[in-house]
Amino acid sequence: MIFLNVQLLDATEITFTYRLDSNEPDRQILGCRVLVPVGRHHRLGIVLDVSENEPTGIVSKPVAAVLDPGPVVTEELIKLCQRVSSYYLYPLGLTILLTLPEPLRRKPPKKPQSFRVIKAAVLTCPPESVQDRAFDEGLKELFARYPSGLPLSRIREYLKKDSNRFITRAKKKGWIDVILAPDDDVLESSFGQAIEETEPKELTSDQAKILDEVGRALAKDEFTPHLLYGVTGSGKTEIYLRLTEKALEMGKSVLVLAPEIALITQLETIFRNRFGEQLAVWHSGLSPQVRLSQWEAILKNKKKVALGTRSAVFLPLRNCGLIIVDEEHDPSYKQEDRLRYNARDVALMRAQMLQIPILLGSATPSLQSYHNAREGRYVLFTITQRVHGHPLPEVEVVDMRRERSPRIFSNRLREALEENFALGLQSLLFLNRRGYAPYVLCRSCGYVAICKRCSIPLTYHIDENNLRCHYCGFTTENIQACPKCEKSVLLYLGFGTEKVEKEVKTILPQAQIARIDRDVIKNMKDLVSTLNRVRQGKVQVIIGTQMITKGHDFPLLSLTGIINADGVLALPDFRSGELTAQQLLQVSGRAGRRESIGRVIIQTYNPSHYVIESAVKGDYSLFCEKELESREKLFYPPYARMVRIICESIDMEKVYKGVYDLADFIRSTAQGEDWECVVIGPAPAPFFKLRDRYRWHILIKARHSAVLTEFLAKIWHSKVVDKLRRRIKVTVDRDPITCL
Ligand SMILES: [Zn+2]
Ligand SMILES: [Zn+2]
Repeated sequence: MIFLNVQLLDATEITFTYRLDSNEPDRQILGCRVLVPVGRHHRLGIVLDVSENEPTGIVSKPVAAVLDPGPVVTEELIKLCQRVSSYYLYPLGLTILLTLPEPLRRKPPKKPQSFRVIKAAVLTCPPESVQDRAFDEGLKELFARYPSGLPLSRIREYLKKDSNRFITRAKKKGWIDVILAPDDDVLESSFGQAIEETEPKELTSDQAKILDEVGRALAKDEFTPHLLYGVTGSGKTEIYLRLTEKALEMGKSVLVLAPEIALITQLETIFRNRFGEQLAVWHSGLSPQVRLSQWEAILKNKKKVALGTRSAVFLPLRNCGLIIVDEEHDPSYKQEDRLRYNARDVALMRAQMLQIPILLGSATPSLQSYHNAREGRYVLFTITQRVHGHPLPEVEVVDMRRERSPRIFSNRLREALEENFALGLQSLLFLNRRGYAPYVLCRSCGYVAICKRCSIPLTYHIDENNLRCHYCGFTTENIQACPKCEKSVLLYLGFGTEKVEKEVKTILPQAQIARIDRDVIKNMKDLVSTLNRVRQGKVQVIIGTQMITKGHDFPLLSLTGIINADGVLALPDFRSGELTAQQLLQVSGRAGRRESIGRVIIQTYNPSHYVIESAVKGDYSLFCEKELESREKLFYPPYARMVRIICESIDMEKVYKGVYDLADFIRSTAQGEDWECVVIGPAPAPFFKLRDRYRWHILIKARHSAVLTEFLAKIWHSKVVDKLRRRIKVTVDRDPITCL
């Protein structure tokens, strides 16, 4: 008999011991899921520890069932989850649950599932050697998407009446095999963008040096964080590919993180060209079955390169030897609900636990990483030259205060747009605001249309003629007259991407326009097809929100217009400068990556602000140095470690009273033992009401992370907080990325 220490996969904070009559002593049970009796029910748990001795004083109940033939959470991941759980103050059971693919997160169904079997085709020769008119680019792409078998139904759907002839001929010629496959196994694994195949390129001396140095850490198995700070277009991807190759040669697996699905689709094609079947992909755009199959292949060590978004940091790679975090500064790495983790930081924890090198890459590193590199905690590589010697774009500023009337386009940007179009070149307009007009104001009485649930102005959308809240999604019909004074004198103030599109249509009626924002792009397929149209030069003007700032390579782009550089800068958040500087440089970097010289025009009302200045000079370090100075003075991250405690309730009084009680308790605890923690607040959050809830917050800052962890644990596991959490919602946000 053995005794299992079981963590339930829910919010239960303590573990329980169960006994198992096992006659298979070698069976690896640690990390397996088990069903255990709790009260009158069976609940799902994970085995954290195995012992031959029964804990004293307790009579253990028997395990109801062991659900897995082998561990589904590796020992390494259990340790990582324990660390993550205590760092972010999130229940361990729920943290572990996040590492499992969806089907394993539930109790198994009573009846075993039966799999449907379907006919599928697999290529048995290289696609080039198939000589058939029907085997066109589209069909080739389909075959590439379904590496383990292309369902015949998809071929029929694609070729229509030619399909049977094609299948018979292809079988006869030995080009394909028709196999029977369980429906679940035939998986569309790729949404990769159409990118030309790239041969391994000759490395520049910068690239070679980095490869060499990280390669050495790889061979030695030592935890070394490296920051690759390289301008846009400096060939970071080629370095990632070569390092992955090196790790594979040493028999190690590699984890590659990218912040957004759209970037994954771009990287996926490039990685698949080099690593073929070894590549696993992981993001929310894939179906649960596909994710399950990718996850299983990784767990069984059949796939050794995992490429994915945020939650891929918890994939069960075997013998992981290297972690790469691309665009490490990106706020998308931070999850803003439930477990509020930052995947970049969890990747660092994982690398440290595994004692392996980690490479963080960005053209605009987070101040935290920049600071760590400057202080010598990270090895810093700087690349200031683009590959092939393409020059960085020329940047100019238009002072909007000097423009005669407030308009979307300055004369300068308008002329440049026209000029660029006349030359047959591509332009991009960046504005981080969706919709048509962000405010609807009554000219007579001053009424502003506000979301009832959020106390935030509603945005007018012209395409559906309605008013929408961009925070909670509340939508209402457009109003014809002021609801307060009943006069029909409403003004639609400001502008969003819809209005920009309309304006471009009047300036350049012949131009093909692609708008890229969340209103037009509803899913990944939309995005990939739009990006493909852009890449193929079928579009002359791209208009987009932050969706287009991230790492995309627009080879034909030669002019970028930043319509309102001050939008984010004005937000009352200590990180707004950092976010703006990153966005401006990232957007600027999209232009002129190939033959044409890039030009960037920035429209601003603050031309002398150092954020704008650094964007104009294309000098991100200039921004970092100034910003670090001010952060140090104000004791903000990276000089301080910070946590934000958010209290929310639909009852304004309750949250007010609760947050003050909590602040008093935190202050008295902080003073009692001389914790050297700084407590700020409580204060109403800048977004005071969201989704019907009133919000207040308290900030705690400390110089050292370990001190803060200990202090927080003391607060969080106290009776005061326990009681408070029964009345109002209390959320801990460690290392917050925004304080809005
Ligand atoms: Zn009015
Ligand atoms: Zn709202």
